[in-house]
Amino acid sequence: MSEIADRILRADRRALARAITLVESTRADHREQAVALLEELAGHGRQALRIGLSGTPGVGKSTFIELFGTMLCGQGLTVAVLAVDPSSARTGGSILGDKTRMERLARLPGAFIRPSPSQTHLGGVARRTREAVALCEAAGFDVVLIETVGVGQSETVVAELSDVFVLLLAPAGGDELQGVKRGIMEAADMIVVNKADGDLKSTAMRTCADYAGALRLLRKRPQDAPGFPKAMTCSALEEQGLAAVWAEITALSTWRRAQGHWDLRRAQQARHWFSEEVRQALLARLETPFARAQMAIHADAVARGETAAGAAAKALLAALQSAGDSLDEGANSA
Ligand code: GDP
Repeated sequence: MSEIADRILRADRRALARAITLVESTRADHREQAVALLEELAGHGRQALRIGLSGTPGVGKSTFIELFGTMLCGQGLTVAVLAVDPSSARTGGSILGDKTRMERLARLPGAFIRPSPSQTHLGGVARRTREAVALCEAAGFDVVLIETVGVGQSETVVAELSDVFVLLLAPAGGDELQGVKRGIMEAADMIVVNKADGDLKSTAMRTCADYAGALRLLRKRPQDAPGFPKAMTCSALEEQGLAAVWAEITALSTWRRAQGHWDLRRAQQARHWFSEEVRQALLARLETPFARAQMAIHADAVARGETAAGAAAKALLAALQSAGDSLDEGANSA
């Protein structure tokens, strides 16, 4: 086993951080090393409880994670926090990038906080996060929290990565209930209305009741334990209701383990990520200089009306195939 793999398995935080940097890199040699490292680690380590947490900016995600994570560490659990931030490419910022956030949690020996890298393109986000989760599991964390801003596509990525998906919402008037996209509601195992304190408390209770009603209208999924998906309130700021959220998360995951849904979901996720890898690898073949040149030639012919699109696509793929074959033969005879 390589030294870095060995160190990750022994929960060495610096080795873990280095390995995450490696999987984030877009350099071809780094990618090869990352693939080799993940292959080495496959089957080692153990399963963490992966909790996906999504919510719009300002809803209280970092406050929640700080205090929720601190509570878990207080119970002797180890907690890794990762972020999926598709908006960072646009804003140049990053949701966990601000070092002043989660200061308290970051100081705990049981916690590991990984800011999202800025300048990630959305296509790379899913793979980076999935591989970072795998590395955290190899390092033996009990809980991996995956945070994402609620801006659309990233929730789907997080829902497909997590064992339990929690949607954090703010107290709001009835009209705003419509603002949550149906797909995100459908992916949620729990809706937690934060800021149930002070003047906002009664609004939070009403909002929670509204969402509970909306959740009841959704079609029940096989992986829904009795009473799930459910809505509840908390106040991250006043540390109210966090233990109850944790109790529900563990109750749900215990039920899923017992019923076989846990393993089934993980297996489905693995299949999904595998096919994604194949898809991405195939798409990458179109990005070589040879492929680009072929693409341009065929596209021009189609544009001039000399070839039909279908026939041109077939010819292009045949050209790529034979170019690939001759490369393979070259490699074999070398
Ligand atoms: P994020 O953008 O989702 O990570 O939200 P933050 O955790 O940064 O919180 C945004 C604002 O909401 C901050 O001013 C927090 O102090 C405040 N906030 C977070 N949780 C609560 C809460 O439970 N109650 C109240 N009243 N304010 C909160």
